[in-house]
Amino acid sequence: MADNSSDNFKEFHSYMGMLQNLDVGLVVLDREYRIQLWNNFMESHSGLHPYEVREKNLFETFPEINEEWFRHKAECVFQLNTRAFTTWEQRPYLFKFKNYRPITGSAEFMYQNITIIPLDSSVGVVERIGIIVYDVTDVAVNRIELKAVNDELKRLSRTDRLTGLYNRGYWQECAEREFKRAQRSGSPISLLMFDIDHFKRVNDEFGHPAGDAAIKNTADQLVMNMRETDIAGRYGGEEYTMLLVDTSAENAKVFADRLREHIASSTVHYQDASFQYTVSMGIAELNDDIKNVDEWIDAADHALYESKEGGRNTVSIFKKS
Ligand code: GH3
Ligand code: MG
Ligand code: MG
Repeated sequence: MADNSSDNFKEFHSYMGMLQNLDVGLVVLDREYRIQLWNNFMESHSGLHPYEVREKNLFETFPEINEEWFRHKAECVFQLNTRAFTTWEQRPYLFKFKNYRPITGSAEFMYQNITIIPLDSSVGVVERIGIIVYDVTDVAVNRIELKAVNDELKRLSRTDRLTGLYNRGYWQECAEREFKRAQRSGSPISLLMFDIDHFKRVNDEFGHPAGDAAIKNTADQLVMNMRETDIAGRYGGEEYTMLLVDTSAENAKVFADRLREHIASSTVHYQDASFQYTVSMGIAELNDDIKNVDEWIDAADHALYESKEGGRNTVSIFKKS
């Protein structure tokens, strides 16, 4: 009875003629990882002729190959007589070839999918393996570009154009998430709301675009003063919201007062006009009486209203009445 594995090798050789000119790389290695076969594809992409690589050790000839990783893959094929695969998503390439394709000019190198197949396994011992290299640069680049576009769309759908802060919808999503997280963990969290004082006057006196500059300046001050874990959003026209995680109301007030002072001492320049303005703030720390995000926002809004009533340019903390 004909040996199955040597049949495989013959079959592989007959395919070779056919595959020689296809857009697929073929490499055969022996048990010592010496190159036995090197097709046109490999030659034209590496610039190395078959006679230059034949009998050469794979890892010495291509130092870019991670030897430990590739040996691990290949040993499975040698020992278990089964195929192994790797995709460009796991590792972008096995052989580092320059990408010459005009359409996918944005990729510097060729993305590759790799299949390793057992060959020549007389008496059950795999003596050689074949590496098939697929050029998947087009697919990879399309996928990567699509992801970049999707990420950018996602970012745009979450942010407010004028200030770059989160918009109301996305900030509320974050608030729902943090509300649940804080309920589970029991760690303190405070919600800060604030609103520009007498903003109508700013618009009336200096014009709407100057008002926009003040809205932007407020956001910039906020971003400059916040921590990485804080979540800030533009809640409405000249209203802002912020979640201060792991922060009690008292500690939130320290932050809020500092921000309030920074805003009050900043000057907005718009065309020939320059002006200053203040903000009023309200803080609500989450407690067991607050049943949902809307109630939490209402509590902070209530404190903000107290600051307005109390003469503006101040910070109030919500207290149960
Ligand atoms: P208060 O101190 O009580 O907050 O007084 P206020 O004048 O600021 O009153 P209020 O907060 O109700 O006014 C909001 C004003 O903000 C009304 C609206 O014309 C203006 N506004 C809302 N959105 C924008 C915006 O995007 N750009 C500009 N320039 N103005 C806006
Ligand atoms: Mg307002
Ligand atoms: Mg206002």
